[in-house]
Amino acid sequence: MSRPKILFPLKAASREEMLKYITEKKLKDVDWKKGKAFCLVYHPGDERAKLIKEIYDLYFSDNALNPTATPSLAELEAETVSMCADLFNGDENVRGNITTGGTESILLAVKTARDWAKKHKPHITKPNMVIPVSAHPAFMKAFHYFNVDFIPVALGNDYRANPAAMREAVNKDTIMIIGSAPSYPHGLMDPIAEIAAIAKEKNIFCHVDACIGGFMLPFIKKLGYKIPDFDFTVDGVTSISADIHKYGYSSKGSSVILYKNAAIRKFQFSLYTKWNGGVYGSPTMTGTRPGGSIAGAWAALKGIGMDGYLEMAETTMNVTNKIKAAIESINDLEIIGHPDMSILAFKSDKLDVFKLADELNKKGWHFERQQLPPTLHFTINYIHRLAADEFIADLKECVITAKKFNLESLASSLQVKAVKGLSKILPSGTIAKFQKGSSGVKKENTAAMYGMMGVLSGTDDLEEIVLDFLDKINSVQ
Ligand SMILES: *Cc1c(COP(=O)(O)O)cnc(C)c1O
Repeated sequence: MSRPKILFPLKAASREEMLKYITEKKLKDVDWKKGKAFCLVYHPGDERAKLIKEIYDLYFSDNALNPTATPSLAELEAETVSMCADLFNGDENVRGNITTGGTESILLAVKTARDWAKKHKPHITKPNMVIPVSAHPAFMKAFHYFNVDFIPVALGNDYRANPAAMREAVNKDTIMIIGSAPSYPHGLMDPIAEIAAIAKEKNIFCHVDACIGGFMLPFIKKLGYKIPDFDFTVDGVTSISADIHKYGYSSKGSSVILYKNAAIRKFQFSLYTKWNGGVYGSPTMTGTRPGGSIAGAWAALKGIGMDGYLEMAETTMNVTNKIKAAIESINDLEIIGHPDMSILAFKSDKLDVFKLADELNKKGWHFERQQLPPTLHFTINYIHRLAADEFIADLKECVITAKKFNLESLASSLQVKAVKGLSKILPSGTIAKFQKGSSGVKKENTAAMYGMMGVLSGTDDLEEIVLDFLDKINSVQ
């Protein structure tokens, strides 16, 4: 049997050796400290980050699983949940937990609604949830894990959830309806009040996914931006997810899930009372719960505070407005809808946006390629105050280059459908397979690759390619 490429270390490596190894490796990564990443990383500035890290470190090894051992962590968690409930206009009945991220918060919201319905609506044997197609795939993960059916509903012409169509979609087995504040792909608020009204009328749950907007919308609303109500002020909303590790600027591994009351949250908990190891109760998905993440979440809210968040939100919106104006000034690009906060996506019917993406990547910028329709996606945060001017200059230059690109050499051009996150690293065999089908396409050209995938989108072949890709990227190269 052949052995794996990297063997288990027989001797401890030195600090110097490890740091050298990592430092070199890390050069491959996007330079987010210079504002080059318009996704994935949110940075509140070195000083604030240092403070959060210091408090995280105090709990580096601590486990919040058993609150009798670490009551301080249980208190920090409860305080954090309470601070978030206040931010989202909840009353003293609101309950919640810190989770490891938006996905865990969403998994829990779906599981809780499912188990609540199992108890209170036992006649429903095949529960479903009604969800706009722009909602985050974490929901589809949850539906899959928890065996809940879902009814995807097309967006309105404004790229927001279409409440009339959602109402139509609700049937006798529907137990929850979902809206995003805002949606990740286009940064657009779904009409939460109308969605929640359907929930109330039909006596079902309503989850608001404020993972990306939760720590931006309340602040920009205070700054005078027009933001429709999306939180517990809206009658009918039963749960809210909000990621502290996004615009809350905490260390990675922290989000919050909130429920309207304790009676609902009870269905979130896991319990097994017959274990040899004793009665086992666990509030969230994970067993061991990283103390550092909980302390870090608390430290971010406490150490940044309303004044700090307002300052960062104002700066972020100023940068967003500048970038937005620059995009609007380029005739070839069109922003999708009217973004409500600091997330935007643009399309083009004059040039291939994936070719433009390749050109921007060459200059070190990192962002998302999206599909249906093909767009480029930018999440702007506080750090981009350092990079906006350079980005705008590069964007203008790259648009000119992209326009020179001969669209006709693509297997399909403007109808292409992209696969988010699949950038340059498809297995070479797969690429070869597709190159056969079209002439004059270069391997290093992701625009071309996306074009070819457009032909396959929605087919089993595409799923196979993505599974291959995930296997490759999760293995030693
Ligand atoms: C990021 C995000 C999620 C998922 O959160 P993770 O922290 O990546 O697990 C869910 N919904 C929306 C709207 C998001 O932006």
